[in-house]
Amino acid sequence: MSFSSDVKLELIEQKNEPCCQKAEAYGLLLFSRSFSANSIEFLSEQESLVQKYNDYVVMATGKPAEIKKTPAGNHKLIVRNKEQRLKLLSYFGHDANEVSLRINLANLSDECCSRAFIRGAFLSCGTITDPEKEYHLEFTIPYKNLTKDFVRLCEELGFSPKTTIRQNNHIVYFKDSTNIEDLLTAMGATNASLSLMGIKMYKSVINNTNRRVNFDKANIKRSTDSAMIYIDAIRTIEKAKGLNSLPSDLKELAMLRLENPDMSQKELAASLSVPISLSAVNRRLKKLVEIADSIRTSSVKNR
Ligand SMILES: [Zn+2]
Repeated sequence: MSFSSDVKLELIEQKNEPCCQKAEAYGLLLFSRSFSANSIEFLSEQESLVQKYNDYVVMATGKPAEIKKTPAGNHKLIVRNKEQRLKLLSYFGHDANEVSLRINLANLSDECCSRAFIRGAFLSCGTITDPEKEYHLEFTIPYKNLTKDFVRLCEELGFSPKTTIRQNNHIVYFKDSTNIEDLLTAMGATNASLSLMGIKMYKSVINNTNRRVNFDKANIKRSTDSAMIYIDAIRTIEKAKGLNSLPSDLKELAMLRLENPDMSQKELAASLSVPISLSAVNRRLKKLVEIADSIRTSSVKNR
């Protein structure tokens, strides 16, 4: 089963405070396939969710709706009777003459109810991508003004949704993992939120490890590269004048460098007969490069 279905199963099982019951029902119905005087329908692959929807139809109208299985194996709920549809609409403060579908805030008496409403909306039109692949949670909403109202409600609860349009639908989505975690928690999907946190923690450990390894590799390469420059310089001097031509402090360092190409400059500094500081080693190595450079330049001039 997908991560999204797991989250929905967890949400379906949430117990509501009495004040939140209507709010959750409202979210579920308002964001369903259709919610108007002409048509009230709901489609889901989850039978328990369609059953929950039907429970709310009974709560509001006293009668159940019709449920059937589609050829694709989904469960479809239809409120066939017009009287019943009008009763459902009026239960939530809507009527048959509305030009555009908006959120009737009278159904959300408290902040807990707003969270239950978002839970209902997610059950109806939401999906979440497996966080192992990507952080993405979205609501697909067919109406523009309903989308605007929904975004405002999310913002009032402290979330930062983004919107886009896809195939004539308005998409309200979240990409920020912390936002998604908080939204899951607000809706009551605590397990999903915890598992997202776990995945995030795991990813960050892996990332840090990779960063560390790359950093070490780069450092090794850098020090090998610089060792090669000095060794090259020392060989040039050796070939042109012999190392005996160098002052004794430079000669000792040159020989040590040649014999120990893997040694770091710090180790070189400590291995000299009279140990010196790292910066002193660095100065002496640079001096060797200067001598080699002048040999190279004069050999070019003499050609
Ligand atoms: Zn409530």
